[in-house]
Amino acid sequence: MVVKVDYHCNNEILEWQWSSDSELMTDPFFTSCYLVDGLLIDSGAPGGVDDLREFVNSLNPEDMIEKCFITHAHEDHAGGAHLLNTEFGIPIYSGEKAINLLKSGNTYPDYRQMAWGPKLLPVNAIFIEEFIITKSKKYKFELFPMSGHAPELITLIERKQQWAFVADAVQPKYKMIFGGHSDIQEDISLIFQALQELYDFTEGMNDLLIFSAGNGVFHSREFLIEKLREIKKMHQQVHEVYKTLPKNKYSKKQIIRKILKQVYGKESFVGQMTRGALSRKNLISSLLDWPIDGKLA
Ligand SMILES: [Zn+2]
Repeated sequence: MVVKVDYHCNNEILEWQWSSDSELMTDPFFTSCYLVDGLLIDSGAPGGVDDLREFVNSLNPEDMIEKCFITHAHEDHAGGAHLLNTEFGIPIYSGEKAINLLKSGNTYPDYRQMAWGPKLLPVNAIFIEEFIITKSKKYKFELFPMSGHAPELITLIERKQQWAFVADAVQPKYKMIFGGHSDIQEDISLIFQALQELYDFTEGMNDLLIFSAGNGVFHSREFLIEKLREIKKMHQQVHEVYKTLPKNKYSKKQIIRKILKQVYGKESFVGQMTRGALSRKNLISSLLDWPIDGKLA
């Protein structure tokens, strides 16, 4: 297994990154959790619990995790919550929509097991509504919902420090999304809306740092503008091609295939490996379902 530890903002933030070292994966594929003044944001993947245990045991008493907040119920974020709760007695907090998902645990297909480990064990999380205050009361995080990637996803914003912990709600590039037969159903119009709302919510935070899960730190609100532009461009492009196709001649599936061919050439390797669960086709389908003359466009 691959573990990396990074420090940010004068060591106030510890980022613990974990990846499987499966031989089937060409490169490590990381997920992160962040430790800020006793608050652990997310908990890694089920496959990382032995490394997480080692990490917790290595902490000095003054750095010990006091509580853990789970941003959303995907296995690469909630995977260590059961261990933290049952072995270390650390209380787990989450937004309302994640509570039931965390309580039931989850199983998922082989390609996700390869990256994240066998299955998500259930955990009883405590609902927290507005904000979360860290151990020494140094930091106050506002809870800010960002759906699109997952309906239950809550990001944490520290206004004074200008920090946003966004988990998977902001991606470095929008190339494909989850959908098809997957239990994860992403919606590009909701992702766009959430990015716009985050941009508005962080007005005046000119030095905003956006901490992602496994994709590093994005600097400033300008990054959000870039992502909004990127999605808008794809939205227009897909609808442009759609306009040229004779609708009565093709099924939706065929239309998506035609657009895929014109816009990207072919499906991605990941799209093929996940049997369409995480694919370019899902992105095209979601962009098509989002009317171009809708109020978000
Ligand atoms: Zn996720």
